[in-house]
Amino acid sequence: MEAEREAKIYCANCIHCKLVPSPAGAGRYYLRVRCDEGKWRKKLGEEKIYKYCTVARRSIDACDSYEDMGDGPEFLKDLRMTLPAADEIYDAPTAR
Ligand code: SF4
Repeated sequence: MEAEREAKIYCANCIHCKLVPSPAGAGRYYLRVRCDEGKWRKKLGEEKIYKYCTVARRSIDACDSYEDMGDGPEFLKDLRMTLPAADEIYDAPTAR
């Protein structure tokens, strides 16, 4: 129902949109997002992952695997306000 009311589906609201680290060298990492249903593909079929800072922009007209996380429309608004503006690099936690 929710998806029918919206013009498009926002992947950030879907349970299959996963946050993953991507190695940046020297123990540091970037944050990336991927669709664990394998729906994000490049033209040649290779999996496509996106920068975390762009996750609120990931949308699709229809998806047969969409599973709403049930967080409501406020979630996307809050997410847009808290996302980093650019691709940031993070230090891995140090083991003690
Ligand atoms: S399953 Fe569909 S709606 Fe969910 S993250 Fe993947 S492409 Fe987006």
